[in-house]
Amino acid sequence: MTESKRVIPCTEAVRQLWDYLDDAISPEDHDKVERHLSFCRKCCGELEFGQEIREFLGSKTSQEIPPEVKARLERFVEEL
Ligand SMILES: [Zn+2]
Repeated sequence: MTESKRVIPCTEAVRQLWDYLDDAISPEDHDKVERHLSFCRKCCGELEFGQEIREFLGSKTSQEIPPEVKARLERFVEEL
């Protein structure tokens, strides 16, 4: 019997990365992102980057993600 667990593509993982870092996604999606990150080095780099940004933002009052950060993520997705 084949399991229904599917591995999400990089684009989807990156799209959910912020929610993942914010713990704002369902446990199911959290698992999917985690599973992807466990084998994808590219997205792991992005995760570290995201964590740094979150720490930066967390040290201030809650803010929007800076446009340049969003632009970087968008470019990252385009390069996939
Ligand atoms: Zn990936």
